[in-house]
Amino acid sequence: MDELPAGMRVAVQCARCGGWLVAAESVAARLGPVCARHSRVDARRAATEIPLFDLPKEVN
Ligand SMILES: [Zn+2]
Repeated sequence: MDELPAGMRVAVQCARCGGWLVAAESVAARLGPVCARHSRVDARRAATEIPLFDLPKEVN
């Protein structure tokens, strides 16, 4: 991942709740840690709204 100048961070909005994410893993997944747990359920419901993206492989 590219390094940013001190004091700067990347922020993206959570694909599920719209909250701002600043943690590197959350930015990469576009989901907060809580929403990531629900993302599979929501993806089924909102498959037409959410573009596909690669989720990090996690053991649940
Ligand atoms: Zn969220």
